Amino acid sequence: MAQKPLVALVGRPNVGKSTLFNRLAGQRLAVVDDVPGTTRDRLHADAEWSGVNFIVVDTGGIDPSHTKKNDSGEPLSIGSKDFITEIKQQAMTAIVDADCILFLVDVEHGVTPADWEVGNILRQNQKQNEKGEFTPPVILAVNKCENQVRRDDIFEFYSLGLGEPFPISAKHGSGVGDILDEMLKSLNYTEVAKYEESEEDDSIKIAIVGKPNAGKSSILNRILGKERAIVSPIAGTTRDAVDSYITYDGQEITLIDTAGIRKRGKIDRGVEKYSVLRALKAISRADVALLVIDAETGITAQDMHIAGFILDEYKSTIVVVNKWDAIEKDTYTMDTYKKQILGQLNFMDYVPIVFVSALTGQRVNQIIPTAIEVQEERLVRLSTSQVNKILRDAIANHPPPSFKGRLLKIFYGTQVRTEPPTFLIYVNDPEILHFSYLRYIENKIREAYPFTGTPIRVLSRERKKVKLAPRKK
Ligand code: GDP
Ligand code: GDP
Repeated sequence: MAQKPLVALVGRPNVGKSTLFNRLAGQRLAVVDDVPGTTRDRLHADAEWSGVNFIVVDTGGIDPSHTKKNDSGEPLSIGSKDFITEIKQQAMTAIVDADCILFLVDVEHGVTPADWEVGNILRQNQKQNEKGEFTPPVILAVNKCENQVRRDDIFEFYSLGLGEPFPISAKHGSGVGDILDEMLKSLNYTEVAKYEESEEDDSIKIAIVGKPNAGKSSILNRILGKERAIVSPIAGTTRDAVDSYITYDGQEITLIDTAGIRKRGKIDRGVEKYSVLRALKAISRADVALLVIDAETGITAQDMHIAGFILDEYKSTIVVVNKWDAIEKDTYTMDTYKKQILGQLNFMDYVPIVFVSALTGQRVNQIIPTAIEVQEERLVRLSTSQVNKILRDAIANHPPPSFKGRLLKIFYGTQVRTEPPTFLIYVNDPEILHFSYLRYIENKIREAYPFTGTPIRVLSRERKKVKLAPRKK
């Protein structure tokens, strides 16, 4: 699986980051948000420009300064020390983990002190590659330029030292294409080549994600201690420096560690606190994500974000509840925990949960076999006759209700692809196939075949009436 470039939106509050985010995420966002009973914050989304898929992240939303409170419970005032610290940290996060940064400023306010702070961090932390180009590339977008703006107003932003400022209007869309073209141009020389090369290897890719201190590194070390690392990362190769490789029962496995960078001393803990971006990157090139939860704290908001992203990317999930040694237990504890977790992750209630202790090693040896099983589920293909039996039974039990005064007819269905298993259902009119009925069918498919740990997709399409050619006389 190729890794998608990760593009981070950076800038002080109110410059228009979420407006631009929504524009870039566009329709895809609306589709996913249709899942009933889930109101997940959207900080990251898939986007596409000129045929290149990328992930866009609003760093402002990861830890929004404008909703953050100071010690006395008041919102942080603009220009206060905490406020500046907040945006500095967002900029740091982006520079460490993003492949490209869209730095947004606001034409109405000109260059503000907060813009200076962000600009400095970006500039000072860019690295120069062998071609002399600065990475990650920073594209400076001057927002709210829908009206005629004076050249001088734009020129002022050259003083940030980040090259040409591009006038855009996130609200109206003007100029947005230009910055996306610029983004693709800059990604060409940094990351895209790497993504293509990494597609060759066919090991199962497992990302270890979760909040800091959940025990990701400890788990990784336990796993690596057991299995022999077969390939050591070689500096200068296209492989990510923090990947580890093992074989298990003849199956090659790549473990993508999101905590490892910090352990190797490259960045400090302040940045690691914002490891959400790194988790997103790891997930985007994984098949299976291990969502590591600290048993002592349970699922956090950050875990929920990560889970939402795993689902959006149609990756498989195993919840690993770590530090099980530290919990006082009776016969019911595990069951209670399981119910609680599945209740919180109700949008992915098909996930297996493993209770482990990286400290004592308890059940850590179940993690890899479970991941291999889950990967096998991603590859399952149901026969068309199986799919149609499921559909017939589902319709017989609960016929589709009429919708908009019209009756839905389901003709037949088939599984059109794997990874994730994707089903296509032919109907008389997809418009009258209500989302809840699609969910019902999805559940029926899962009842017939569990697809443990793996999301499935059910799509609908209109069955075209085939026009028969007139008979030749
Ligand atoms: P964020 O805090 O950086 O995420 O900024 P928002 O996206 O929430 O936008 C802040 C305000 O600026 C909102 O009132 C938006 O409607 C407004 N805004 C965003 N983009 C534009 C734009 O292109 N032109 C104008 N005039 N206003 C905009
Ligand atoms: P990471 O930030 O997710 O990589 O977490 P670490 O692996 O660095 O672990 C964070 C802390 O939790 C360390 O102090 C570990 O010793 C501790 N820890 C990790 N796993 C366990 C466990 O299974 N039980 C207990 N009691 N502590 C653990």
